[in-house]
Amino acid sequence: MNNQAFIQRDAAVLWHPCTQMKDHETLPVVPIKSGKGVWLEDFEGNRYLDAISSWWVNLFGHANPYINQALKEQLDTLEHVILSGMTHNAAITLAEKLVEITPANLSKVFYADSGSAAIEVALKMSFHYWQNRGQKQKTKFIALDNSYHGETLGALAVCNLGYFKEIYAPLLMEVITVPSPDCFHRETGESWRDYSIRRFAEMEQTIAEHADSVAAVIVEPLVQGAGRMRMYDPVYLTLLRAACDKYNVHLIADEIAVGFGRTGTMFACEQAGISPDFICLSKGLSGGYLPLSVVLTHDEVYQAFYDDYQNLTAFLHSHSYCGNPLACRAGVATIEIFQQQNIIQKNIPLALALATATERFRDHPNVAEVRQTGMILAIEFVKNKHTGEAFAWQERRNLKVYQYALSKGLLLRPISNVIYFMPPYVITEQEIAWMVDVTWDALNFAVQG
Ligand code: PMP
Repeated sequence: MNNQAFIQRDAAVLWHPCTQMKDHETLPVVPIKSGKGVWLEDFEGNRYLDAISSWWVNLFGHANPYINQALKEQLDTLEHVILSGMTHNAAITLAEKLVEITPANLSKVFYADSGSAAIEVALKMSFHYWQNRGQKQKTKFIALDNSYHGETLGALAVCNLGYFKEIYAPLLMEVITVPSPDCFHRETGESWRDYSIRRFAEMEQTIAEHADSVAAVIVEPLVQGAGRMRMYDPVYLTLLRAACDKYNVHLIADEIAVGFGRTGTMFACEQAGISPDFICLSKGLSGGYLPLSVVLTHDEVYQAFYDDYQNLTAFLHSHSYCGNPLACRAGVATIEIFQQQNIIQKNIPLALALATATERFRDHPNVAEVRQTGMILAIEFVKNKHTGEAFAWQERRNLKVYQYALSKGLLLRPISNVIYFMPPYVITEQEIAWMVDVTWDALNFAVQG
């Protein structure tokens, strides 16, 4: 079958995520037959470089031989088992490895099956902790402006991206929102660090004011992903940890997008030298293979739920597929690759190659900023470099970038007027150079007229 046959069958039955389906009248979906490394291939032999790791999940390439082998073994041993009352080797091994590699004190692992589900777990666990500890009034959450934490109702409530959230507002719990440390808004000449410190004053004030009623502060450490890859300095997290300790409020680190080396360290929190009360992980957790997420917390939280059954303090949250053995085995193989191949070190020259290759964008007449944190690099394009005036969203310049790049065999997915790269770590420096060249042409195409 060729592409067209799949496109027709797809249109008849599928409703795609995050998509105005009418767009597909003129912009057909791309049917993918197979993947290998950073490349995806359609049914007519066209190849696409996956510069965004298929929604930030893939770490070591499609059809990675090592992860494939682990999964084949697991498949012949145990495909799935209920995780309530039962356990299995893959779930235990992955939990042991996570406790070993995540920031200090995070010693208990709770499994879920998607990033949003992990956020639900962390929010509920924090709230429930305070209930069990007798602090019944601690029911609220503080979140940053421009944040994204998923799209189930609890996770959506702590998001602050209008276009995802507004329509559902009547369904959502109220959340206290604090301005983002997003350094795009810093003054000319001001450092990321100074701006992040300056912005933290509002966070500290809010925590101090609401400490009695707040269960937790939730943040995406260092990079607000879906919020157009806006970035800030680690000092913000260091200060936030101290304030949460001072005012007796939990800190939830949503490392679903930034965990597993994306920011240059295994976890973003490491750069601030902090350990959150809850860390949420997903996406790269299974190497980009299977749906899986976890929340890690420390013993003090765990102990607040640990009691005689009759006291009804247990944490009641479950998903049918939580801790799925195949997904966990992929997770174990993923962490083994990190450890055996010293990936965090190996990524340093790759991050540098990204920086070098994109240097010329800084002088582009339509580029307001090129920013980078580790293996995430973002290019913010504007209508007018001098005034900072943005292109109207209705013009859909991002779609033009997408279409142009796709026609050349590059999968980008700009968010608003921000093009970003978050490639699998198996990308080569030559592929980076090619990817950036195509992006340069795509940008020039998109800003015309
Ligand atoms: N938090 C962050 C920071 C994310 O980037 C995402 C997904 N893009 C989520 C939560 C939600 O994860 P999922 O899509 O797996 O529900």
